[in-house]
Amino acid sequence: MEHLERDVVVIGAGPSGLTAAYELNKAGKSVAVLEARDRVGGRTWTDVMDGATIEIGGQWISPDQSGLYSLIEELGIETFERYKVGKSVYLNEQGEAVIYSGEDFPVAQNTVAQMNKLIGLMNDLAAQMNPDKPWEHPQAEELDKISFHHFLRQNSNDELACNNVGLFIAGGMLTKPAHTFSALQAVLMASSAGSFDNLVDEDFILDRRIVGTMQGVSKTVAERLGEGIVFLDNPVLKLEWFDGGVVAHGQSVTVSAKKVVVAIPPNLYSRISYVPALPRKQHVTHQHQSMGLVIKVHAVYDTPFWREEGLSGTCFGPDALVQELYDNTYIGESTGTLVGFISDAKADAMWELDDEARRAAILKGIAAYLGEKALDPKVFYLSDFAAEEWTRGAYATSYDLGGLHRFGPAQNQNIGPIYFSSSDLAGEGFQHVDGAVRMGRRSAARIIAELDG
Ligand code: FAD
Repeated sequence: MEHLERDVVVIGAGPSGLTAAYELNKAGKSVAVLEARDRVGGRTWTDVMDGATIEIGGQWISPDQSGLYSLIEELGIETFERYKVGKSVYLNEQGEAVIYSGEDFPVAQNTVAQMNKLIGLMNDLAAQMNPDKPWEHPQAEELDKISFHHFLRQNSNDELACNNVGLFIAGGMLTKPAHTFSALQAVLMASSAGSFDNLVDEDFILDRRIVGTMQGVSKTVAERLGEGIVFLDNPVLKLEWFDGGVVAHGQSVTVSAKKVVVAIPPNLYSRISYVPALPRKQHVTHQHQSMGLVIKVHAVYDTPFWREEGLSGTCFGPDALVQELYDNTYIGESTGTLVGFISDAKADAMWELDDEARRAAILKGIAAYLGEKALDPKVFYLSDFAAEEWTRGAYATSYDLGGLHRFGPAQNQNIGPIYFSSSDLAGEGFQHVDGAVRMGRRSAARIIAELDG
């Protein structure tokens, strides 16, 4: 067992932990990062399959995400635009593929009007929220007591409008059914992206991608940190803490430090044994944050055949198995890559099937939008973060009904030398790499102030 003495030990080499380590290192503090997996990047992860670049985890960046933008600028990393040229496809309640352009789904005028009314309402509520303190919203308690599902239906009797607007947050973002989280949690999601309008605009929220991939950002930070700082294959299962510091016990490395940044997803906080135990407030709070579930589907074809048909590859189907689909071809590749998403209960159902039946059902779901050519990809791969011990779901964690205003105020408080840092605790950039970077910087700044003060 190697023993190290450092100013700060960081647990987790995802974007948040690595950003914290990078900032601390730049400020002249000695750091060690202990990572459970055999790679850095956490929920960002990339592979090349049959010549095609596959973003298994987080990948898109939107114009408001200035935390992540400033980091990649500093690292000399560039971005490229997601392919957006051509018309979109909407799968209606009858299962018919309707080709459309413009922002509105091709549904009845009255439903469009009801959707716009609900979106306007969410915009207004989001504008009144400071995403760093959603529990201070003037209607926080009231909004946290009602599920997003029922909130929408309280404000519109158009079932299709409620379903379509619900999808943007439920299946599309929190990856939980809309009856399991509150309207306040939904308003936070909107507020964290600037507005609900931004969230529902795929050209905004899924604007650009990273040259060298999103995991490449973490790899570059780790390289900049240099040798002897990041220790892979070192899950921390025990953390001793006391007035003057901590001792973090990894698999092959133990680190004594003045402060610790716990940069793991909140659903995994109880994976670590804290000695002494954390205060009761944290024990309870941590049990109310859980991961959503989504399957990210990747299908690679010899060519992006949909483009020849004037289609962008962007497809939506609020009731469909594959609820969203996008052209995800990596810059410079001649093959065509589609990425689709299957969320919450529909994802449960897919994991019940055997491999062959699952593949057939999902490809049929993609073909429902883009025709039979979609049935025969050369690469078919499903991201399965729920099966990964060090994540256990996707994309991120959120509070259960009523949890955000009750437990949220405790989530970002340090406990003595322990600082929690995760995209899932962020205000701006909540549940995104941008939020992870912001939280990493915030934790580092607080620790530097403490150590230097
Ligand atoms: P993580 O990335 O989860 O990193 C935490 C690290 O801690 C991991 O490396 C883990 O192995 C490690 N760890 C856990 N427990 C321990 C332990 N006990 N000891 C040591 N190490 C431990 N975001 C976007 O911005 N855009 C997107 O397009 C996007 N799409 C996504 C798609 C998918 C399929 C998923 C899963 C996520 C997506 N996200 C996206 C979310 C984004 O990836 C996360 O918000 C971000 O990675 C969170 O960073 P983090 O550092 O807070 O946590």
